[in-house]
Amino acid sequence: MIIDTHTHLYVEDFDTDYQEVVLRAMEQGIKQFFLPAIDSQYTQRMFRLYKEFPNQMFLMNGLHPCSVKANWEEELAHVTALMQSHPKDFYAIGEIGMDLYWDKTFLEEQKEVFRKQIILAKKYNLPIVIHCREAFEEVLKILEKVNDEKLFGIFHCFTGNKEQAQKIISLGLKLGIGGVVTFKNGKIDTFLHEIPLDNIVLETDAPYLAPVPFRGRRNESAYLIHIIKKLAEVYNLSENEIIKQTTINAKKIFNL
Ligand SMILES: [Zn+2]
Repeated sequence: MIIDTHTHLYVEDFDTDYQEVVLRAMEQGIKQFFLPAIDSQYTQRMFRLYKEFPNQMFLMNGLHPCSVKANWEEELAHVTALMQSHPKDFYAIGEIGMDLYWDKTFLEEQKEVFRKQIILAKKYNLPIVIHCREAFEEVLKILEKVNDEKLFGIFHCFTGNKEQAQKIISLGLKLGIGGVVTFKNGKIDTFLHEIPLDNIVLETDAPYLAPVPFRGRRNESAYLIHIIKKLAEVYNLSENEIIKQTTINAKKIFNL
């Protein structure tokens, strides 16, 4: 069994064909889908998909850094309230973190919201799923401050260098590896074999970041097989060995 640890199957991009998208992935052996939250606009959509595929869909709860705006307190209250009303329905707090690529207006608020959601995750003994874009130092600083035995989770869409990978792992986090590993200019394929496989989980981040040969098109969970193929090359292992170990890793993080 293969697990897609990060897929946004509930967003508008899949409105017309999400059932086929799920079936196509299942035919390829992908049987569990972890859905990272964005903000309150998507909560109903996530629960709807979960109700339709209760054995396949696994929900996360959280406020995405790109959705940290003037109303962040309201949004954060929504996350907290959901945690109280549905304590058993969530498998992680995510995706949370910092994104300074699009907009730096709410930089301080992003930090505050990230910190508060890490505290929430610890309270419920849940892993965190981190989104980090153009903000590695800022995210690292916060993680180092909150680091203890209760901090664990996934650094989603890892695209950094070897030193950054090792730093993240030393903080008790796994690396989420997706389409970027198949990109010619992605670079992570050049050193990943030096990172022990028990630190890696698979993700698509669908509908974004489709792997080669679908780069630039809509991504979907079935394309995870192209990421597995590339990882098998990078680690010089069989695809089955990649699947086996990364599934063990994902199950451990999400406590399945
Ligand atoms: Zn995402």
